[in-house]
Amino acid sequence: MNKTVYILQKFKDSQEFHLFEGKIDDENNICSSKTGKSICGKVKLDANAKCEFVCEDEDHSRYKCYLLEKKVCGTCVSHLYGKFE
Ligand SMILES: [Zn+2]
Repeated sequence: MNKTVYILQKFKDSQEFHLFEGKIDDENNICSSKTGKSICGKVKLDANAKCEFVCEDEDHSRYKCYLLEKKVCGTCVSHLYGKFE
């Protein structure tokens, strides 16, 4: 299993959500951020803060970001609509 998953976290300062690429540890079934940095590169994942969602696949992430509308960082969201690789 090697599909891309995403984590969404809200940042208090800007009241904005940023998206992180996640990875799932199959053995322990734990999800964590791949790089610790948001896709836009602006923020780091805060381990102490609550996440809006953790390790959703691309389709679910897109839908949930859509529901949050403009509160999600535009650069991060565009990643879900562009095809990389
Ligand atoms: Zn962002």
